[in-house]
Amino acid sequence: MLAVKGLSRAFGGVQAVDQVDFELKRNQVLGVIGPNGSGKTTLVNLITGFVRPDKGKVIFKGKNITKKPPYKVAQMGLARSFQMAKPFYQLEAYKNLNVALYSPRVKGLLGGKFGDRDAVAKDLLEEVGFERDSQVITQTASSLPHGYLKRLELAKCLALRPDLIVLDELFSGLSLAEVASMVPVIEKLVAQGKTLIMVEHRLRELFRIADQVLVLNFGRKIAQGNPTEVMDMPEVKSAYLGA
Ligand code: ADP
Repeated sequence: MLAVKGLSRAFGGVQAVDQVDFELKRNQVLGVIGPNGSGKTTLVNLITGFVRPDKGKVIFKGKNITKKPPYKVAQMGLARSFQMAKPFYQLEAYKNLNVALYSPRVKGLLGGKFGDRDAVAKDLLEEVGFERDSQVITQTASSLPHGYLKRLELAKCLALRPDLIVLDELFSGLSLAEVASMVPVIEKLVAQGKTLIMVEHRLRELFRIADQVLVLNFGRKIAQGNPTEVMDMPEVKSAYLGA
């Protein structure tokens, strides 16, 4: 599904991402962890075309997407969410899915047979935890609580019918109860065979979901493996605990 090779990017004197390599197979979930400032969001931005690499390659479904702009990457089926939700604040929650639902990708996939997009949007919002027929679905995004904005971010990704979804700290800013209700939503996507990359600080929840975990520190990949083996690695403990 995805191959990242020697990906590097500096900002001024800071090497934000440094020679990162990894591969991700279809139906797998890769967790990306690391201390603050270790390059996680920059890695997401490099993969999805929001930041250009100084060096390295991103291969998605066998195609080189390294220099493609974000909208082209999305149209190819690589969706991402933002740590800071970026909705259209004046639009109702479900109308926020229209950019994806009216995109050439979705039109192409459905061959013109789409039906009622509003109904599809509402179904998608229900899938990510909006209560059916409730006010939150028709509320403007500006008045949605933070937890729902994060759900909306996920629904926007799903609306694109993506092959790969990159979630940048989906759980950040959520209460424990909100995290607990979001986990089954993700688990359902995993059960459906979706391929995911999750940048996450909530390790306990991430380790339940992820097949593989990649650990960044100062922009470098310092470890990769299944959750149990990664947390036992001394270099990971010292990056986290400073020991
Ligand atoms: P993380 O997501 O792991 O917290 P980031 O990818 O946001 O880390 O940042 C990695 C490093 O790159 C940090 O030192 C950060 O300050 C720097 N950085 C990220 N984006 C920019 C930018 N647009 N301009 C300058 N420095 C940046």
